Amino acid sequence: MRFLLAALSHETNTFSPVPTPLARFCRDGTELLAGERAIGFFRGTRTCMGGFLDVAAEAGAEVVVPVAAHAPPSGKVEGAAYEAFCTAITDAVRQGGWDAILLDLHGAMVTDRFEDGEGELLRRIRAIDATTPMAVAYDMHANMHDAMVDNATITAGYQTYPHVDMYQTAERAARPLLRALRGEVKPTTAWARAPMLPHVMAQGTHAFPNKELQAMCRGWEASGRALSASLYVGFPHADIHGAGLSAVVCTDNNPADAAAMVQELLDFAWKAREDFTFRPEALEASVARAKQAGATKAELPVVLLDHYDNCASGGTMDTTEVLAEILRQGLTDVAFFGICDPAAVAACQRAGVGAEVELDLGGKLPMPELPRSSTPLRVKGTVKTISAGYFVTKAGLAPGLKVYMGPTVVLDTGAVEIVLVTRQIEPTSPDMFRVLGIEPRDKRFLAIKSRVHWRAALGPLAREIVECAGVGVCTSDYSQLTFRNVRRPIYPLDPGTNG
Ligand SMILES: [Zn+2]
Repeated sequence: MRFLLAALSHETNTFSPVPTPLARFCRDGTELLAGERAIGFFRGTRTCMGGFLDVAAEAGAEVVVPVAAHAPPSGKVEGAAYEAFCTAITDAVRQGGWDAILLDLHGAMVTDRFEDGEGELLRRIRAIDATTPMAVAYDMHANMHDAMVDNATITAGYQTYPHVDMYQTAERAARPLLRALRGEVKPTTAWARAPMLPHVMAQGTHAFPNKELQAMCRGWEASGRALSASLYVGFPHADIHGAGLSAVVCTDNNPADAAAMVQELLDFAWKAREDFTFRPEALEASVARAKQAGATKAELPVVLLDHYDNCASGGTMDTTEVLAEILRQGLTDVAFFGICDPAAVAACQRAGVGAEVELDLGGKLPMPELPRSSTPLRVKGTVKTISAGYFVTKAGLAPGLKVYMGPTVVLDTGAVEIVLVTRQIEPTSPDMFRVLGIEPRDKRFLAIKSRVHWRAALGPLAREIVECAGVGVCTSDYSQLTFRNVRRPIYPLDPGTNG
């Protein structure tokens, strides 16, 4: 058998000023993964690609990978990049002779032409090859569209947030497809949306209501009632018509039951809509509360979440307001991860380890979609660490994956160890601190630009969690954003929305 396997993954924050050219999809900033290089990179990792490769190997299939492109979240994907990736995939489809097509997509990709980047890709594939069975794995933050479901034989979405089940999601998409290839099942899918935009801070699967929703999906899969069942919380920072919560259920030739399960998920989510909202607190009060919680030194740190500027949701990772408030209120023994500022990193590299420097950090990227942008923060400190920023992650979302943070520096003010990075990267695992000479467990405070993903591997280290409303394009205060394209009415933008 021959399987075509490809990845094209981007979560697009349409409010983000961070550009998304082709280079952003290169793992180390230069090389786009494809062919044997891609297979070698992902084999043995707990990623979707890793899962697809293992299922293909079990089936004894030859695998061809025309492209495996993943980029960190940012603004709309540039047309040239999107066309290059689609062409790589459709050219391979055109060669023919495939027994199956397996795709690792995100589901919330917006390009400068298409609100539904994944659906457009699947339409193009089906225009060339209308029949080869196709399985697609999507992120839980997918904003679902007809073309993303109708053109696939079977789809599956992550059931955890933090996303620690990427590998299993690939299995949940590929294994039923193999059964279909053997003629054992006849996949049929139903899907629908609810008129709601859940706040990202309320989407974690550690808590109600998403914990319960995902448990329903897992239960139906375990009993065999569904071949795959997925509840997508959606990505609200994509101002597109189809953004928001949806459910997709695939059964063995039972469309009525697939539709019934979809409805059950949507009804549950709609009833819990208030629990899918988030009410921010003023920054000064949050930092004061954190300071109080950390007044006595204990075994584990108090975690402050600078969650308006999470680069894994399209944040610039260069806003300074939370760091400024931490310094102003005099918190000590803090590790702050981090500020993306290549110029500041270069200045620290020139000065060398042990040198004293005074720098304007961050606040350099204008954010025209927000009422106010961030401002640079003047900081004096000692260059403590200079790192090339390469490591293999042992924990977090995808253990075994080679991570390239880019040149990274730790600037120590005496009170706060500030991590300065050259690429936007979400702090999600203790490894990322340890390679820089910081033991996160021993700090009194950990301040991180993250929302939910940190819980996977840093979560167990948190003595207490304090959410800090800074400045950034993944603000959880929807009143700071101007939605022009999302369908209305939609909850909670329109509180009187009917389900
Ligand atoms: Zn996601």
